Amino acid sequence: MSSVERLVGSVSVKALMGDEVLRRYRSDGLREFRGFRREYAVSRVAVVFPKDTSEVVEVVKAANRYRVPLVPAGGLTGLMGGAMPITDCVVVDMREMNRVLRVSREDRVVECEAGITLEELDRAAQSAGLTIGHDPWTKKYATVGGCIATNGMGYTAAAYGSMRRQVLGLELVLPTGEVLRTRSVEDFSTGPSLAQLFVGSEGTLGIITKASLRVHTIPEERRLLGYRFESFEEGFPTVVKIFSSGLNPSMMEYGEVFESPSDPSGMYESELFIMFEGPRRVVEAKVETAEELCRAAKLENSRVEEFWSHRHDVADFYVENVAKANSHPVWGDAFFDFIHVSLPVSKVLEYKRQTSEMLKRHGLWVLDRGVWNSPENFSIAFLKPFDTSQADSLKQLSQAFDEMVYLAHRMGGSMEYCHGVGVKLAKYMEEEHGAAGLETLRRIKKALDPNNIMNPAKLIHGVEGKI
Ligand SMILES: Cc1cc2nc3c(=O)[nH]c(=O)nc-3n(C[C@H](O)[C@H](O)[C@H](O)COP(=O)(O)OP(=O)(O)OC[C@H]3O[C@@H](n4cnc5c(N)ncnc54)[C@H](O)[C@@H]3O)c2cc1C
Repeated sequence: MSSVERLVGSVSVKALMGDEVLRRYRSDGLREFRGFRREYAVSRVAVVFPKDTSEVVEVVKAANRYRVPLVPAGGLTGLMGGAMPITDCVVVDMREMNRVLRVSREDRVVECEAGITLEELDRAAQSAGLTIGHDPWTKKYATVGGCIATNGMGYTAAAYGSMRRQVLGLELVLPTGEVLRTRSVEDFSTGPSLAQLFVGSEGTLGIITKASLRVHTIPEERRLLGYRFESFEEGFPTVVKIFSSGLNPSMMEYGEVFESPSDPSGMYESELFIMFEGPRRVVEAKVETAEELCRAAKLENSRVEEFWSHRHDVADFYVENVAKANSHPVWGDAFFDFIHVSLPVSKVLEYKRQTSEMLKRHGLWVLDRGVWNSPENFSIAFLKPFDTSQADSLKQLSQAFDEMVYLAHRMGGSMEYCHGVGVKLAKYMEEEHGAAGLETLRRIKKALDPNNIMNPAKLIHGVEGKI
């Protein structure tokens, strides 16, 4: 009997094993068409569905006893392979821990279990006149635990911040099976924040079982404006001015519009969508000021409404089509990938210029490019048309990706601002954090997880997958 089977047989938690489990849990959003080659020998994967914290403790203790890696999983929408089995392991599917525990309008706090989806949690908050203010494309599918573990970002992050700013307190099962509960207040001066240590830890330091989040009163007024600029370069200074003027938009997306992704020379303009929310009179004043700053053509209302009402469509398309397939339903066998870097504002246009040259040199087409929620957060989606052999295409795609990561680092930026590291970006972690930074992360991991049970060989490059 394998150690995975022994673990499953020793716990009272609901569990499944077999080919169907392997198929359903074999991958998150890191897919083969992103140029990712699966080179892991995985033959035995079980999945457990804990119903409460005590069941998570039971599983973690058993994993230490049998030395079996645990991979926490939420909605499996993560894009970097964080929830993907890379060795024989037990996946801890948290989605049955999905209760709302407290909604307080007065405290502006919700408490919930970690497996609840953002949409379900927001529905509960809305019934008390509140909103969680975290609205990624995957709101319907992603779980609170997954978003905290990747420090995700949603549409209204310009006002409410990425997940890091929303987390007040956490309950976690540590890799040794102890339960850690932090206090749920925003400000304290009693040592480093333990809760924040686990934000962005991608399941490598423990399993988040409960969270207490800062939520917000549903605004009296919300106004979404849209503008068209002749080029990205023309409108970018306006975007920067809006942010530096103290107008505090709640949402901003500014990016290039391509006539057709199959024609990379067909870029024709750039669109800015910007939202203000709050008390009506404050919003009116902000809109008036923004309109003075934006000396550009206004977008038709229908275009602005279309942008907002269709913002989650990509995730529905992903769940219904992409997650089930090996090749991309639109791009076929071509490789497609993206990079989301965070840069000093002063470097964004130069980064765009230099990466355009890199992409061109490697024969890659730009599908989408722009900034989101802050002029510092710059992303590029790109495609390698299938005009060379698979091996050559893959080489060009990954060389271009390397060059873009290293350029972001040279410019003083970070290689990723909201999707985490997983296995895809783990190889760049020393560049990202420096040798001393990576070593510090490794020591924290070793101190908390002496048997290397939790999601080994993810995020923290160099910690061996085998235990
Ligand atoms: C089409 C599409 C659009 C997307 N748009 C956005 C977007 O707008 N903004 C954004 O930020 N992201 C986006 N993502 C990425 C993804 O939705 C986020 O990373 C999300 O936060 C992952 O949540 P999940 O529940 O699916 O986590 P999973 O994919 O299941 O897991 C992600 C990571 O968190 C760990 N984890 C999960 N639950 C726990 C837990 N309870 N305790 C400890 N660790 C845990 C896993 O081990 C893994 O490392 C998008 C993905 C897709 C496919």
